[in-house]
Order: sequence, then C-alpha cells, then structure tokens
Amino acid sequence: MDCVGCGQCVIVCETDAIKVKGRAVITGDCIECGVCARYCPVKAIEVSV
Ligand code: SF4
Ligand code: SF4
Repeated sequence: MDCVGCGQCVIVCETDAIKVKGRAVITGDCIECGVCARYCPVKAIEVSV
C-alpha cells in the first residue's frame, strides 16, 4: 500500500533517516535496519536487509 504519512516510521527510526512530507522519504542516513518496515501500519516501506 501507499504511505499515508502517519509518521510512525519517523518515530522508530534510530538514525532519523526518514522525513515525511506528505509521504515518507528515506534519506542517506538509513542503515537498512528494517525497523521502519516492521512498524509501518500499511506496509509502505520495503527494506532489503
Ligand atoms: S531501515 Fe533505514 S529508514 Fe528504516 S528504521 Fe532502519 S535506518 Fe531508519
Ligand atoms: S511509510 Fe508507513 S509508517 Fe512511514 S509515514 Fe508512511 S505509512 Fe506511516
């Protein structure tokens, strides 16, 4: 599903790698831990780990 901009992934990201402007955008600080993908209520994030 598409990101609904809830901000949940921003809260759980350890490295502050996600910014939400209408929808979530993962920046270069991502360490691909996969936590955001696990917490996203609509499964909008896929991280290859
Ligand atoms: S996979 Fe990347 S964007 Fe997602 S929580 Fe981990 S560091 Fe943050
Ligand atoms: S990617 Fe998922 S958790 Fe992050 S803002 Fe979008 S809907 Fe919410």
